[in-house]
Amino acid sequence: MKSQDIRSKFFNFFEGKQHLIVPSAPMVLKNDPTLMFVNSGMAPFKEYFLGNAEPKKNRIADSQKCLRVSGKHNDLEEVGYDTYHHTLFEMLGNWSFGDYFKEEAIAWAWELLTEVYGIDKDILYVTIFEGSEDDDKLSMDTEAYDIWKKYIAEDRILKGNKKDNFWEMGDQGPCGPCSEIHVDIRSAEEKAKVDGKTLINRDHPHVVEVWNLVFMQYNRKANRSLEPLPNKHIDTGMGFERLCMVLQGVQSNYDTDVFTPIIREIETITDKKYGEKDDIDIAIRVISDHVRAVAFSIADGQLPSNTGAGYVIRRILRRAVRYGFTFLDKKEPFIYRLVDVLSKKMGEAFPELRAQKVLIENVIKEEEASFLRTLEQGLVLLNRIVEDTKGDTVSGEKAFELYDTYGFPIDLTALILSEKNLNLDEKGFKEELQKQKNRSRSASETSTDDWTILFEDDIQEFIGYDTQEANVKIARYRKVTSKKEGEMYQLVFNLTPFYPEGGGQIGDKGFLEDKHGDIVYILDTKKENNVVYHLTKELPDHLNESFRAVVSSEHRALSSSNHTATHLLHQALRAILGEHVEQKGSLVKPQSLRFDFSHFSKVTPEQLQEIEDFVNARIEGQLPLEERRNVPMEKAIEEGAMALFGEKYGDTVRTIRFGKSIELCGGIHVKNTSDIWHFKIVSEGAVAAGIRRIEAITNKAVKDYFSENNAAYLQMKGLLNNAMEPIKALENLQGENADLKKEIESLLKDKAKNIKGELKNELTEINGVQYLAKKLDLDAAGIKDVCFELGSQYNNLFLLFGAENDGKAILSCYISKELVASKGLNAGAVVRELGKYIQGGGGGQPFFATAGGRKPEGISEALKASKDYL
Ligand code: ATP
Ligand code: MG
Repeated sequence: MKSQDIRSKFFNFFEGKQHLIVPSAPMVLKNDPTLMFVNSGMAPFKEYFLGNAEPKKNRIADSQKCLRVSGKHNDLEEVGYDTYHHTLFEMLGNWSFGDYFKEEAIAWAWELLTEVYGIDKDILYVTIFEGSEDDDKLSMDTEAYDIWKKYIAEDRILKGNKKDNFWEMGDQGPCGPCSEIHVDIRSAEEKAKVDGKTLINRDHPHVVEVWNLVFMQYNRKANRSLEPLPNKHIDTGMGFERLCMVLQGVQSNYDTDVFTPIIREIETITDKKYGEKDDIDIAIRVISDHVRAVAFSIADGQLPSNTGAGYVIRRILRRAVRYGFTFLDKKEPFIYRLVDVLSKKMGEAFPELRAQKVLIENVIKEEEASFLRTLEQGLVLLNRIVEDTKGDTVSGEKAFELYDTYGFPIDLTALILSEKNLNLDEKGFKEELQKQKNRSRSASETSTDDWTILFEDDIQEFIGYDTQEANVKIARYRKVTSKKEGEMYQLVFNLTPFYPEGGGQIGDKGFLEDKHGDIVYILDTKKENNVVYHLTKELPDHLNESFRAVVSSEHRALSSSNHTATHLLHQALRAILGEHVEQKGSLVKPQSLRFDFSHFSKVTPEQLQEIEDFVNARIEGQLPLEERRNVPMEKAIEEGAMALFGEKYGDTVRTIRFGKSIELCGGIHVKNTSDIWHFKIVSEGAVAAGIRRIEAITNKAVKDYFSENNAAYLQMKGLLNNAMEPIKALENLQGENADLKKEIESLLKDKAKNIKGELKNELTEINGVQYLAKKLDLDAAGIKDVCFELGSQYNNLFLLFGAENDGKAILSCYISKELVASKGLNAGAVVRELGKYIQGGGGGQPFFATAGGRKPEGISEALKASKDYL
């Protein structure tokens, strides 16, 4: 059965059981500070289980993209070494939100596996929760046991402990026992030797878990006690790639048609064979897995970068490059070439891959190229470390420096050293790593108290689109302590006019005032799992009274101005650069706006001018805000509203329209474009391959910008003696300057020529070598000139020249190539050795090298020492 059919059979089956089939949510999370990536099918539905939002239907089924590379679920180091863990995988799931429970969940899982997919029930095992002796004192899940008994022999129902068979969302919230379904796909011979029962949950590659059915029946409270949930839920997760392995009768996920086309392509590109040698196989598995994770992330809008989720993605890609570099001998980018096969294979189920193929290829290629450069530089540095190493062990400190400063991977260092018969002080390296971890941990440590509930609130109402002021009550609050920000409080109101950070726009600021006239400032507003909280430095005195909550109108007005300008900019870019422009990121603050978009070349100054004019024309056109809420998603798209890849939308959406610009948007906007006053682009540049960034300002910031520029202009004019035509005066100055430069250059050349003549006479012969060490009154370029000029006339030269420029010392050494070859001399080694006299260092090639230093007084000593060297 092809993987596509396996997926659609799953959907058809649950559709037949009245489930609504929904597409995968984006994998990259933007609104959940506790999680970077979706790591299980449950994550996108968290709000429903917590009761912060209502699902569309109480039965849902889907295939969710999951990434397990950080935090609680991190399988990264397994990937490639085993055959059934991936970084990115699809989790098939069926969901009941307070609807059906264990009876149906078990019956349907069994029906699907044995009847629809036709899996032989003799290869299946199931587990149930055995109960716990700890504080929770839970009894065995006999309910599940009794249901399973109806379908499977009792000796195939195994009891599992809390670790494997009791699931919790987090420290608080829904939890409950679970039942896993395992398969044993070993050969009959092996089965006869070892009983399958003894291999369950023992990391055997052919006795693996395929499906986990979670029965949410308790709520874990802040004080750790459990209470029964009034509405019980079902959450199931089945590994799609593992299911394909079983149904396609193969022994590895990588032998299913999900992976084979990618693996064949790797074989073609690298000219290596899969299935013959262990380390090559591991490398091929790593690359075929990682290209999927990286491509899906980019399609979801998460580009590789230096921080947060972007850094995780960068590390995954670098791991793949490293395996290709080390085991497949690929020294140039090639992983990007796999995107084509991937998008052909997966593009139907995940159209975002197909739509953004070119962007994904470009980004991966650029990342590969830049990391390969790092690897090459690292190799040079490592060779130098090896040269300088006395004894047979390279210190952990040096290896750590290479790793930390240059991004050179430690396992590669170890490998190269072992090839050179050197040891790596791994213990020392680990200590350095730990030291660094401690440094960054203590910098980012935060502790969060439990919520103090003042009264139970329903789903909190946001009224900030219509008003900037309201009477509110505090429903709950908690204290958060961090090194960076000290003690802060998060307050949740029954309703709020404060806009929480989201959709690129930063959160509102403002204050709370009680009826005694006491004020507490709100420093920021954020959202977590649909709950809006307000950040304050202190707690109000009268927590149970009501407050007047007021949003800062200046903050709001300037943010709105930048947000509306962002929409107009987006429209302008598509109109002027083309329809290929996709929004890739946006930041809206009161001070400025930033917009990232896909486009493959620099935006020219003329285009930038055109874009500015386009936006300003719409500001002058005084276009009114046309806001519509609760528009059905399809209708909004039909009307031409732009939706973003990687963004999660509900069934009904809010549309924001100014003239012909229509966007799906939850942000705050001006009432009329004329409120923006003026739009000015302040910078344009690249952020990644194929992604450009524009920064711009509006409103008050433009006024400030113009008056500052004007002041600078007046000052400049003053410096030009208030010339009537300042530009002409400046051009004259530049012309004069260029002439003077030329004159100096030619004078220096003459001088060098004279010096050369003199120097020739000063050469002395030592052991058949023409030797000279001297301090010259030239700059580095002049010295190099002299060296090469003399070098062209002799084949046995050894020159060492020193000079003092701007208080700094330089030493240059030239050795004829013939001497380098015959006597094993090395100019690089000479300047490194003599560099210590001038308190500096440097390097270069064996025949010419230069060192710079802080101690010009040391030059003469260095020159003297050179004779000994020779
Ligand atoms: P395992 O013990 O095999 O790592 P798990 O207990 O971590 O599995 P769950 O968190 O229960 O798995 O996830 C549900 C299902 O998702 C599993 O039954 C399995 O089929 C699949 N799965 C989990 N992790 C991975 C992974 N890294 N790659 C592929 N499939 C996975
Ligand atoms: Mg796991």
